[in-house]
Amino acid sequence: MADDYTARKPAAANQAPPAPEFPWPDGHRCALMPAFDVDGESIWLAFDALSERRLVTRSYGGYEARVGIPKILEALADREIKATFFVTGWALDAHPALCESIVQGGHEVAHHGYWHKRPEPGQLAAMQDEVEQGLDAMQRILGVKPVGYRAPYGESVAELLTLLTDCGFVYSSSWRDDIRPYRHVLEDGRSGVIEIPVNFSFDDWGYGLTHRHSPRTLMPRGHVVSIWKDELAQTREWGGVVSMVMHPQVSGRPKGFMIMTEFLDHARSHDDIWIATGAEIAAHYAACERQTQSTD
Ligand SMILES: [Zn+2]
Repeated sequence: MADDYTARKPAAANQAPPAPEFPWPDGHRCALMPAFDVDGESIWLAFDALSERRLVTRSYGGYEARVGIPKILEALADREIKATFFVTGWALDAHPALCESIVQGGHEVAHHGYWHKRPEPGQLAAMQDEVEQGLDAMQRILGVKPVGYRAPYGESVAELLTLLTDCGFVYSSSWRDDIRPYRHVLEDGRSGVIEIPVNFSFDDWGYGLTHRHSPRTLMPRGHVVSIWKDELAQTREWGGVVSMVMHPQVSGRPKGFMIMTEFLDHARSHDDIWIATGAEIAAHYAACERQTQSTD
């Protein structure tokens, strides 16, 4: 049976070599990538198609456009921080002016699928649709060709990595298996996109949003800020990157906003933490890689 994994020899899921050592720019010890997944209402439709007509369920996502994103853009501007927003095509089509305001704020807009459908093994056509429709929405509404991609539900499969590489993406920020960026190796042995791995402790959904589709225990501000500060402190010691997974429907709510701003202010109080977008981190990685290759 093709899907009987017990018939195959055990092998690591990731065939990429260990993440290379390279310096962060300007003597910085580590990098922080403030990043938001703008799912809007698309995630609630993806949980259950009937939710298209469940207006209160949808209103959890609707909070992003009405309050969450404007508040976050204000907080980032006050702190002169540029962030990465992984936006679904659905959110672009439903809230074009809001998405334009993200670009006008000088932030990076990156790809997060169209309908927020989870990439699944063997469903290449569905993944192609998600990627192509998302690219089309970005081009049509923002005139942007994104360089970054974050998988809906943080899932990926080998075919998707190949698809992203062939579509010209520069980086993915979805995997959980490192604290430094590395370059993927595709199934056919070719070099793939750069990975800026995610630290799942920075997924605010786990602490700050609860619903019958996604029941969680809410946590107090001090508890979450303490986790985030510890993760950052040790990542700084190790010279890694903290790639955040905030959602405006969580971190744009009052308590979430306090957590986010307290953490960003804490990070900014260190002058050796490079706060950068995914595009900037990927470009730095690629430049270091070119330099290493030319001196080999
Ligand atoms: Zn998402």
